[in-house]
Amino acid sequence: MSIKENYQKIREQIPDNVTIVLASKMRTPEEIEEVIEVGATDIGENYVQEAENMHDALSEKARRVRWHMIGYLQKNKINKAVEIFDVIQTVDSLKTAVAIDKRVERAGKKISVLVEINIGSEMTKAGVKPEYEVIENLVGEISKLEYLRLEGLMTMGPRFGNPEDSRPYFKKTKNIFGRIKGLSLPGVKMETLSMGMSNSYKVAVEEGSNMVRLGTVVFGERKGGIKK
Ligand SMILES: *Cc1c(COP(=O)(O)O)cnc(C)c1O
Repeated sequence: MSIKENYQKIREQIPDNVTIVLASKMRTPEEIEEVIEVGATDIGENYVQEAENMHDALSEKARRVRWHMIGYLQKNKINKAVEIFDVIQTVDSLKTAVAIDKRVERAGKKISVLVEINIGSEMTKAGVKPEYEVIENLVGEISKLEYLRLEGLMTMGPRFGNPEDSRPYFKKTKNIFGRIKGLSLPGVKMETLSMGMSNSYKVAVEEGSNMVRLGTVVFGERKGGIKK
């Protein structure tokens, strides 16, 4: 099947309230254009530089979709990131949040952010450790930042061959999400739960995800291995 058929098929399979963010790492502008033509709404980028190149290559068409930063955000790239992205999904410290807030203020806009949770407590992964108090505290502090709109949580979760193995991690993330939402913090709209990738998105949606980030199932295997 072609890229656009893959996208359309998945779009039909999962509920309308679930946003599909297409992970564009290592894809060409032509491939991204193909999904935008058939109605893709959201694109995820791992690197600020690649996002900028993609933007330039797509020119007018880039404006038809929302852009999500889904990779680790380096401090020296925040200015550029604030120009390009609508959503930064990978905020995992107050320090980063404050740095983004300052730059967004200077740019005279607002930006949506998600807090990334390292739900598997993996040494090699970014994200806040999955301790409820730590997360609640961070969310509370971020909610005070004027130029950020805190809209939810994101998690990568451990990668397994069998997607069922991901289920407990998704459940745990959903639970944290629900508790934070229940706080009804002023200035916080907890409405996005970004979890689930190509091999696990069905399980993630069953467990309450409303934003999945898909690469391989739509575009095919990445050449040259998995690049994060
Ligand atoms: C690459 C990537 C994805 C998509 O991965 P696939 O397994 O190709 O669907 C999702 N989220 C993040 C943060 C990624 O880097």
